[in-house]
Amino acid sequence: MERIDKQTRKGTLEEFVKALPKTETHLHIEGALPYELLREMDSERFPREPDFRRKGYKYKNFVDFENILLAHAAVWFTSPERYHEACKRIFAGLQACNVKYVETSLHLAMTEFIGADGKELIHAIKSAAPKGMEVRVIGGFLRNGYTDAMKPVIDNMHTWDELDGIDLHGQEWLELEDWTAPVWKRCKDAGKIIKVHAGEFGGPDKIVEAIDLLGVERIQHGVRSVEKTDLVKRIADLGIVLDVCPLSNEGLQVVPSLEEHPLKDLCDAGVICTINTDDPLCFANTIEDEYFAVGDRLGFSFEDIGQLAKNGFAYSTMEKSLINKYTSEIDSLVDAYKL
Ligand SMILES: [Zn+2]
Repeated sequence: MERIDKQTRKGTLEEFVKALPKTETHLHIEGALPYELLREMDSERFPREPDFRRKGYKYKNFVDFENILLAHAAVWFTSPERYHEACKRIFAGLQACNVKYVETSLHLAMTEFIGADGKELIHAIKSAAPKGMEVRVIGGFLRNGYTDAMKPVIDNMHTWDELDGIDLHGQEWLELEDWTAPVWKRCKDAGKIIKVHAGEFGGPDKIVEAIDLLGVERIQHGVRSVEKTDLVKRIADLGIVLDVCPLSNEGLQVVPSLEEHPLKDLCDAGVICTINTDDPLCFANTIEDEYFAVGDRLGFSFEDIGQLAKNGFAYSTMEKSLINKYTSEIDSLVDAYKL
């Protein structure tokens, strides 16, 4: 009997997750490359089911993950046209999951690698957005990304109307360099969305640094804040949003298993969290998989799941009327499913 109940809940959960209007606010565009595009290009070089796309695959460490990501993404992303083509496919996939709002991070050093103009890449991404989906582009760098070649981009990007925000990517163990704080302040003053990857491989100190020195409003991951109770309270009090990616955290062994993920503790402590996929090329995950895992393996109620989806809209830069529309759609769904 209990087994039947569990199966029924799984089925209902799946239906509920499918119907839920969603956002995706932690998505690296290069890490979202649909693997099928590589297969269509060269099916011998890119096998149907490579090891790293197996369910439950665990990366040894961040460098292992990064090598696999680069070995695949760099093959495809060679021009603005390729960005556009990939984005059409990526956004169609997100739309099929009922995603209405996307903040996607473009690794701006790609402008140097492929010799393309940053604004042109942003246009290539945004012009691939289907009707009914709003796309914001966030420009990201490594912590040591202020190279001679990138200085003109970094020093001027606050003036780019097309750019919606900025982010520090990966490799958290690198020191925060002196150029970073003035750039983040300039972009914040220019009204950009201010993000930083922190509290994934780096400990709570990296989160404190992001708050104190960079004035962040959104932290990508931030899950290791739970190692410091005072910090969790501070994040909640400041209303900082954590864009969490549970299956990425499991795949990269940031948590020993998803069942031990601190998402519930963070939500219970009043921290605003959203649910996202990070790099679906590497984790073979969809946004529906993430929501489903939160309900199925972390035991979130339909109401709690609805709240996570509502957070995505509440802290988006969509028009208030649209935020209200999707929020009430989520409320009605929760009401219909919670009994
Ligand atoms: Zn990320």
